[in-house]
Amino acid sequence: HELPADSDTSNLPRQVAGAAFSWVDPTPVPAPRTVAVAHDVAGMLGIPAEAPGFAEVFAGNARWPGMTGYAMAYGGHQFGHWAGQLGDGRAIGLGEVLTERHGRQELQLKGAGRTPYSRGADGRAVLRSSIREFLCSEAMHHLGVPTTRALSLVATGEAVVRDVMYDGHPAPEPGAIVCRVAPSFLRFGSYELPSSRGDIALLRRLTDFTLATHYPAFAGLPGEQGHAAFFVEVCERTARLMAHWMRVGFVHGVMNTDNMSILGLTIDYGPYGWVDNFDPDWTPNTTDRAHRRYRFGQQPQVAYWNLQRLAQALSPLFAGVEALQAGLDRYVETFEATDAAFSAAKLGLVNAREGDEALVADLRGLLLAGEMDMTIFYRDLAALDLATPRVGSLGAAFYDEAKRAAIDDALQAWLRRYATRVREGESPDTERLALMHASNPRYVLRNYLAQQAIDRAEQGDDGGIHELLDALRRPYDEQPGREHLAGRRPDWARERVGCSM
Ligand code: AMP
Ligand code: MG
Ligand code: MG
Repeated sequence: HELPADSDTSNLPRQVAGAAFSWVDPTPVPAPRTVAVAHDVAGMLGIPAEAPGFAEVFAGNARWPGMTGYAMAYGGHQFGHWAGQLGDGRAIGLGEVLTERHGRQELQLKGAGRTPYSRGADGRAVLRSSIREFLCSEAMHHLGVPTTRALSLVATGEAVVRDVMYDGHPAPEPGAIVCRVAPSFLRFGSYELPSSRGDIALLRRLTDFTLATHYPAFAGLPGEQGHAAFFVEVCERTARLMAHWMRVGFVHGVMNTDNMSILGLTIDYGPYGWVDNFDPDWTPNTTDRAHRRYRFGQQPQVAYWNLQRLAQALSPLFAGVEALQAGLDRYVETFEATDAAFSAAKLGLVNAREGDEALVADLRGLLLAGEMDMTIFYRDLAALDLATPRVGSLGAAFYDEAKRAAIDDALQAWLRRYATRVREGESPDTERLALMHASNPRYVLRNYLAQQAIDRAEQGDDGGIHELLDALRRPYDEQPGREHLAGRRPDWARERVGCSM
């Protein structure tokens, strides 16, 4: 549907009004080649990588019976400002698979060509950003973090021009398409868009569709109650998601409201990164280096701000603000409780006690001051000798000898305090160690590891992708022979950051 003729759209990209999506076909690519498949996703969907025509279908060149094509309309607040209509500019939905054990799963090709929402851009994705999305969404899933997933990574054989410059000119790069998989790709921005236009009928239809399809327990509740329960649930899921990101050291990098899933999933892997040395101020997003709006330690606050925008968008469905405020309050409670529980679990503290919060807070101060690797520190802490705790046993976590020397005494004192706390907790060692090993990964997708796999792939060697995909399927297991994937970030990679497109 188009806007009424008297609308002033002179400075706007094409506006799609009165609809939540547009039908659109993928644009074919010259030479599809399957680079990688996540076999457990393939199994979940009942779509084996060996299926005839796999590469053609997941490059958008062919369709199996029942498949369709559509791009979703959504808006969003980007970096704090309302950005109007955005929509799937390069993602094209193929439809849903009704799986036996995992319910409804929607398939979406990212990089499949232009859509009505592409504005000036090409609708394509480069191999490097596609490798990053493919690997990270699978890594997150196996870490136990709610996320969209990835079925496949298919090279297109087409050159795409992005922001990597060679000799002052944009250099063409290989293109690729990821097939993303999730029960739904609806975002906060999906509701913000109709609400911003005063299209309350569409807002209501979309919200009721969301309840009926994804939150059926709330769909039958009378009056406002269903919508209220839905908002509370989104708040709780988002709170748990933030606690998970903080637990594993993941920084999304672009937490605009169009990148916030209505199912509480991690969605849209762009310039994300993993903290190596623990630093709440760190952001992987080079375009956010001035304000650091989406820095690591700020993510829980940003999620709250984003939920406020969702509340505002949904408010026409409510007579008052109480139910929405109750959801926002629930966000704060849920985040604080979950973060405290995760933080205690990372330290192997089985039963919470008074003073635990101070123990955690003091440790965070030391990790920052000592420039210590978050993942290595927590993982190696499980092997600490509680009878004679020594900083030396955590030596692998330090990046800088001077910083280590500066906190040595304080960390030694903290370790003694921690050992005392653990002994007094009187939980069996086996239980404590199991909790720590299930909360502290050995393997995460460090930025430089992804970059090494990308560099190899761009030279025609997909081996790095397959090795990481395999290792990251068991992030909490020690994997002999894979120590090179669990070490500190090397010095040369210090300033390497994520990429956005
Ligand atoms: P993001 O920053 O990835 O959340 O994207 C913001 C908006 O830009 C979304 O509407 C995307 O669909 C759109 N977009 C990003 N990259 C492209 C591209 N290569 N072609 C068309 N639209 C794009
Ligand atoms: Mg996005
Ligand atoms: Mg993106």
